[in-house]
Amino acid sequence: MSRRETAVVAGGAGFVGSHLCRLLLDGGYEVICLDNFLTGDVRNVAGLDQLGPFRLQPHDITEAVALPETVDVVFHLASPASPVDYLRHPLATLAAGSSGTENLLRLAREKSARFVVASTSEVYGDPLVHPQPETYWGNVNPIGPRSVYDEAKRFAEALTAAHRRTYGTSTAIARIFNTYGPRMRPADGRAVPAFVTQALRGDPVTVAGDGSQTRSLCYVDDLAEGLVLLSAATTPGPVNLGNPHEISMLDLATRVVHMTGSTSPIVFTERPQDDPSLRCPDITRAREELGWKPTTDLSEGLHRTISWFRSRAMAPAPSPTRSPSAISRPVTVSNSVPPSP
Ligand code: NAD
Repeated sequence: MSRRETAVVAGGAGFVGSHLCRLLLDGGYEVICLDNFLTGDVRNVAGLDQLGPFRLQPHDITEAVALPETVDVVFHLASPASPVDYLRHPLATLAAGSSGTENLLRLAREKSARFVVASTSEVYGDPLVHPQPETYWGNVNPIGPRSVYDEAKRFAEALTAAHRRTYGTSTAIARIFNTYGPRMRPADGRAVPAFVTQALRGDPVTVAGDGSQTRSLCYVDDLAEGLVLLSAATTPGPVNLGNPHEISMLDLATRVVHMTGSTSPIVFTERPQDDPSLRCPDITRAREELGWKPTTDLSEGLHRTISWFRSRAMAPAPSPTRSPSAISRPVTVSNSVPPSP
């Protein structure tokens, strides 16, 4: 009988990471989730141990990672990701992209494992090329408020490429575009959870600027599938993973108000500094090298997301304590902090 493959998912208690852990368990992997709960939540992975061999290990990846077992793939998703989070945790964001990436690359090298880093469309900054192919080098303000995230990811990409060149580590860079779905936090500052929760509460739906700026929104299940395909391939990337269907923020807000049956008015607020005007991936490389394209259309994805937020709003308040069933005894614990509210 062939051995079950083991995947380490750093940042696995976050939004994308929790969906990735579930998909890997469904695919027969053993999953070790490393997280310090800076922006993640133990509730995101509660019950995953019922689906297969799953271990949640509290760990800050800016500290060295030591695991006794064989590891086949290391996914690095551990970083604050929403503007609200990285502006609140600027130094932790830079550390996750720099020393965090270094520690996980070392782990991958030591285990001869494939390494997949979750980079971002933010490496393109406010792009001067549209849509953005992987060959575009970007237009980033290196000292603006968003630079803590953009430059951390650009550094993580550089470090990943250098490890591959220097040690021959099998690495892959995923450039993820805006992703949405269940388990986003209502107040994480991203458009979909903000619009959905505002509309469900009947509060004004707040659109930045005049709402003409566009984003392309990828449903989280599609993204998780792209990450798994990338881990199984040999390509170093970078590979754009996102949905090339573009929508303006005003159209999105209007759609959410309509789909929730809300009577919320749409109001316009000040546009944040360095907020990109356009964002749309060119996914030719992902199609050709991974055979991947998103398959969940926006209506279906929004429907699932709204249903999740609706059920969550109606659920009783969660217990503030961690679910013991989801946590197994950590092998190494350092600098772990409690889940965010
Ligand atoms: P998230 O904030 O929900 O998840 C990030 C997880 O990493 C959290 O569980 C957090 O606690 C954990 N973490 C942060 N710093 C850590 C550290 N030092 N050690 C251990 N764990 C740490 O964010 P997300 O939306 O799920 O994003 C996941 C990854 O995908 C991030 O790297 C992000 O940059 C990338 N990404 C996401 C999007 C998106 O639209 N969601 C877009 C582009 C890139």
